[in-house]
Amino acid sequence: MIKITEKQNCTGCHACSNICPKQCIIMEADKEGFLYPKVDLDRCVDCGLCEKICPVLANIKVDNEPRAYACNNKNEQIRLESSSGGIFTLITEQIINDGGVVFGVSLNKDLTVLHSYVETKEQLKAFRGSKYVQSKIGETYKTAEHFLKQSRKVLFSGTPCQIEGLKAYLQKDYDNLFCIDIICHGVPSPKVWEKYLSYQEKREGAKAEGANFRHKNKGWNKFSMALEFDNGNEYIQTLDKDLYMKAFLKDTCLRPSCHKCSFKTLHRKSDITLADFWGINKVLPKMDDDKGTSLILINSERGRTMFDSLQDSILFEEVDLNKAVSYNPAAFRSAILNPNREGFFRDLDNLSFDKLVDKYCSESMTVLVKRKTKSVVIAILKKTRLLNLAKKVLKCVD
Ligand SMILES: Cc1cc2nc3c(=O)[nH]c(=O)nc-3n(C[C@H](O)[C@H](O)[C@H](O)COP(=O)(O)OP(=O)(O)OC[C@H]3O[C@@H](n4cnc5c(N)ncnc54)[C@H](O)[C@@H]3O)c2cc1C
Ligand code: SF4
Ligand code: SF4
Ligand code: SF4
Repeated sequence: MIKITEKQNCTGCHACSNICPKQCIIMEADKEGFLYPKVDLDRCVDCGLCEKICPVLANIKVDNEPRAYACNNKNEQIRLESSSGGIFTLITEQIINDGGVVFGVSLNKDLTVLHSYVETKEQLKAFRGSKYVQSKIGETYKTAEHFLKQSRKVLFSGTPCQIEGLKAYLQKDYDNLFCIDIICHGVPSPKVWEKYLSYQEKREGAKAEGANFRHKNKGWNKFSMALEFDNGNEYIQTLDKDLYMKAFLKDTCLRPSCHKCSFKTLHRKSDITLADFWGINKVLPKMDDDKGTSLILINSERGRTMFDSLQDSILFEEVDLNKAVSYNPAAFRSAILNPNREGFFRDLDNLSFDKLVDKYCSESMTVLVKRKTKSVVIAILKKTRLLNLAKKVLKCVD
């Protein structure tokens, strides 16, 4: 049965909890707020299925040659409401037109972030825009399987580890399944998001009832966090000033697995990968108007067919794959572990959100890593009793 000994080895994809024939795996939050599987040993029959399908343990690679495109949806309004070029909406509208079902990530009434499915174009709006919080998969893999077996088209979107989780759960390929993943920097803890919202609600004296992590009022490059409150007020602040975005972008609150991610690769199991085309101003300046441009990677024949059917609704140009990801390291490399991450979570329950961010998210990563490297070198020198010698040598050099 599944046993988590090293937290970095569990992405929280829910494949094990969805597949267990005895339904004896629950997903339980740890003190950082991330979900991990917990087995009810009294009901487990030791069938081994959970371990067999875990995508991190199986680590099955694919060998495809993706092609990269810069794309903008011609519909300016949808583009404005989306994180980058608004391509997700175009693809998913086609699935709905064909009577299919779309799975994606939305915010519910209390602004928790979850996976669910929709069957109409109007409902797709809830999935638009990135929510920078780990979404709860719940039982959506089982629900997707149910629709697949009814021969309906199913489009499942999520992080690369969630797409790996779905495929591992299904254990077979379906012709009617379409998968979209994203280039994924990493996912912050739902508990950190909750704390941030409480801080903002206290400051405002009202309940938050809407959130947009990628508001484009100051442009796509300098996007903003926007919150709507039930007193009619709106909060809006750019990514460099908003407290939540600071914590996210300084890598102090990502899931441990995001620092050792097996699924950040240019060879993915999804049909299409969506991303922001960071660096478009240098790679293909004529496509850049600071309203958002998507980078699309076509990973399979199914993805190619989907992409070809969009061509009247988009502006696009093919780009060399390596150039396309040259300003987007999250495509192939895990986020570096911030030495302040441990302190951030240790103080999460003790400090107010503004003090927490002030204490742990102000220094640049270069300074932090330099300081950490220095302390590790000093520790090694002390351990090997070479510290005094090193000091003497350095004095001579001076
Ligand atoms: C946590 C996270 C980290 C990201 N990191 C990067 C990055 O480092 N570099 C980069 O280029 N792009 C990154 N992206 C992707 C990017 O922000 C856009 O989602 C992508 O450009 C598609 O934009 P769009 O305009 O086509 O459509 P949009 O309408 O903006 O796309 C929405 C899509 O994102 C999915 N989604 C939203 N929130 C989540 C979530 N919490 N978990 C899983 N899926 C979600 C929706 O289901 C839908 O598929 C990230 C997205 C998320 C959610
Ligand atoms: S299947 Fe997913 S949730 Fe379960 S242990 Fe593996 S990575 Fe974690
Ligand atoms: S070994 Fe089988 S019964 Fe036990 S937790 Fe895993 S899937 Fe469930
Ligand atoms: S960085 Fe990797 S482990 Fe983290 S959410 Fe993204 S795909 Fe999953």
